[in-house]
Order: sequence, then C-alpha cells, then structure tokens
Amino acid sequence: MTRRVLVTGANRGFGAALTAAFARQGAQVFAAARKGHTTLDAILERYPSLVTGIELDVTDLASVEAARDAVAERAPALDVLVNNAAMRSPTVSEPIESIDFADVARTFDVNAIGPLRVAQAFLPMLRAGDSPVFVNVSSEAGSIGQCWRDREFDYCMSKAALNMATAIFANLLRGKVHVFSMHPGWMRTDMGGPRASLDPEEVAEGVATKLLAVPVPIAAPFVDHEGHPLPW
Ligand code: NDP
Repeated sequence: MTRRVLVTGANRGFGAALTAAFARQGAQVFAAARKGHTTLDAILERYPSLVTGIELDVTDLASVEAARDAVAERAPALDVLVNNAAMRSPTVSEPIESIDFADVARTFDVNAIGPLRVAQAFLPMLRAGDSPVFVNVSSEAGSIGQCWRDREFDYCMSKAALNMATAIFANLLRGKVHVFSMHPGWMRTDMGGPRASLDPEEVAEGVATKLLAVPVPIAAPFVDHEGHPLPW
C-alpha cells in the first residue's frame, strides 16, 4: 500500500530533498511549508500526483490545525510524520555575554514547541496509520552526552528539548507508533552551509528508503542518518 507521509519544513534544504526522495520512491507526500515556496515548487511540478503542498507554520497553532484539516480532506490517515522544520538564529554563535534572548525564545518556539504543535494536531491521523512512524529531525547538537560546544545555546538546547519530546512520545505511543529522533548529518543546506560534508539529496534518498520500509530498520531512540545510535 502507498505510504502516506507528512514532512514539515519542506520548502528547501533537507525537507525539500526528503519530499522529492519520498515521491521518487512512490509515497504520497504532504509537503508542509510556510508561504513563499522555493525548491518545493519544482518538486510539486515534477510529482503532481504524489506531492501536495500544504501551508503550515509550526509556530502558529491555527496554521497547524488548518494544515491537518487540509491533509485530512485528502487522506484518512498518515503512516509517516517527519518533524523537520527548524531554524538557527542569526545570533546562535554569539558568546554568552551577547546572546539575544528574543532569538533564544524564537528558536525554542520553532525547534521544540513547533514539533509538539504538529504532533498534537496530527497524532490522531498517525494513530490511524498503517505501521506508523514518527520522526523528529534532531541534531547531534542536541546530544547532552556528546556535547562539545561552548556556545550555540539556543539551537543545542532546543534540540535537547526536542529529544525529550521524542522520549515522552515513545512512552506514550509504545507498541502503536515507532518514535525516534534522527540527526541527519552535516549537510550542504542554508543551515549547514556550503562547507558541510554531506549532500542533502543523498542523505534524503537513504533516509526515505529507511522510513518507507515496514518495519523501519531503526532500533535506537536517537540515531544518525545511517541508523547508528547516538547518546541522548
Ligand atoms: P534549512 O535552514 O535549510 O531549512 C529549514 C526549513 O525549515 C525551511 O524549509 C524553513 O522554511 C523551515 N522552517 C523554518 N521555520 C519554520 C516555521 N516556523 N514553520 C514552518 N517551517 C519552518 O535547514 P536544513 O534543511 O539544513 O535542516 C533540516 C533539519 O535538519 C532541521 O531540523 C535541522 O535542525 C536539522 N539538521 C540540519 C543539519 C545541517 O547540517 N543542515 C545538521 C543537523 C540537523 P522557510 O523556507 O519558510 O524558511
């Protein structure tokens, strides 16, 4: 049966690459993005029968709920939910003396609370899915066990908080929905920059293959893009 997938932050970067990879592999994809499409436009044109653009801002509950309603009009259930949308603030690399607390709050709103809004709205559809899978796209930057940075508080703290949400959802949904966090690796996107080691399209192809498999071949609660475990 065709897997039904929702990807947030599908506008550009890894979310767009993942949307295209899912469609290439035959999934029905709801590509959730804020207004002002960039890379996503070409993907929508290329896969008109498989990819549907859905407007969704993860910081706005009304927008998330409207997106849920728009998806529900087209599919009775979801099989894979990928919370991918995230940001790094312009002041993320500032030292402690000059961090900007408005940026810290905004980063938490997008990276940690946003996925919670999306989960609240879409969980009933995911529970109704076939072998459902719920992935939070996190980062090694959110690993407390591997922490090496002396700054980037907002981004790292927001991803650690997202990992806690993953752990709680895993408890809540044990035996019903397969829940995990995934670090996609350092990729050449707007966020990762041009010097990053990985091509987002290559990463997305492999990740999409794993996420569309039934069962998903991932055993640990927090993994890298190849499925290797990471410490919380
Ligand atoms: P980009 O900055 O390239 O893209 C971010 C995406 O998130 C965009 O589509 C953006 O939409 C969307 N987004 C931001 N804010 C919101 C919002 N309020 N509502 C809806 N969508 C929003 O990031 P990447 O593609 O590189 O990152 C994808 C994921 O991978 C993120 O979770 C990131 O933290 C994680 N990651 C990335 C790494 C890397 O090296 N690139 C490393 C580790 C983790 P818009 O175009 O509208 O701004």
